Amino acid sequence: MTTPRARQALDGIPVYRPGKAALSDDHKLSSNENPFPPLPGVMERAAAELGRMNRYPDAGMTDLYEALSARFGLPVDHFAAGTGSVAVLFALLSAHLEPGDEIVYAWRSFEAYPIAADLTGATTVRVPLRPDATHDLDAMAAAVTERTKVVLVCTPNNPTGPVVTAEALTGFLASVRDDVLVVVDEAYVEFVRDPLAASGLALLAEHPNVVVLRTFSKAYGLAGLRVGYAIARPEVAVAIRKATPPFAVTDLSQAAAVASLQSHDELDRRVDAIVEARVAMVDALRAQGWDVPDTEANFVWLPLGDDALDFAAACDPVSVRPFAGEGVRVSIGSPEVNAQLLSIAGAWRSARR
Ligand SMILES: *Cc1c(COP(=O)(O)O)cnc(C)c1O
Repeated sequence: MTTPRARQALDGIPVYRPGKAALSDDHKLSSNENPFPPLPGVMERAAAELGRMNRYPDAGMTDLYEALSARFGLPVDHFAAGTGSVAVLFALLSAHLEPGDEIVYAWRSFEAYPIAADLTGATTVRVPLRPDATHDLDAMAAAVTERTKVVLVCTPNNPTGPVVTAEALTGFLASVRDDVLVVVDEAYVEFVRDPLAASGLALLAEHPNVVVLRTFSKAYGLAGLRVGYAIARPEVAVAIRKATPPFAVTDLSQAAAVASLQSHDELDRRVDAIVEARVAMVDALRAQGWDVPDTEANFVWLPLGDDALDFAAACDPVSVRPFAGEGVRVSIGSPEVNAQLLSIAGAWRSARR
């Protein structure tokens, strides 16, 4: 008996397996979520949409695109939104890659990249991070061939934390062909304080092949509502829009995103608090003897190698994100849970000295 067979491209793609449930939302330092509740006014705007759930959402995402246009000073045709920037990436890659094409990205980087890339059937070229956990853009430029259609650059890099510098990204863009899409994933850009950090947005005007990915999931605290977007030249944005399922982003999510964009001052205060806690966390971990790479995001990376799984188990009841054989990513959470994590990390180090 023969049964329907999915495309071979799916064979290497893992099925999502949930980790152990956290003791509480506050104890969950495994997904880089925001510890703050929704920004002021967001619950009210979202609640107003709830009673309209018999209606399809605005597939044109008019209010959201207008709000983004006002926020960035770019025409509405420069944006393409979807259910999280991961979904936008899936649409972008399915719009540009097919079997025989190549995609280049750094590794270790964001776990969604292999899934989005492999699904297209294109060939992946992974370029190892440098020992300081930064992107090796020279090696990435050297990995580009005439078949390369897309390069992914994650800055700050998830899960390791460092940014790509403006100098490195500018040099990289100068060295790759103009028909190679360079996707700059800026999911954590609001947390960046390094003045030397690259800004994908700043490069967009001069480089039509740049695509910037942004999200409401991290700094804006809307991870559960699934809204992310690309900022790109209209030709690229329209390709993403075409490849995105219609009616994907609910009106509730669109309204919450628009309302979140209006709370700049409170957003800045919260992001500053998280950045302050990140700096304190890195300082404290280094004082304990940990070799923590620089981080400009809302998480820190502990390069534990083969001890990654043991350490993650020792963190209980705080849940962290282990990468077996490599390290553990710890999100910045509420002050109490950050302190709890620090004391666990300290005890772990002294037990092994
Ligand atoms: C969290 C994250 C995203 C955003 O995910 P959403 O789908 O918008 O929730 C994108 N890229 C990276 C590197 C991330 O860590």
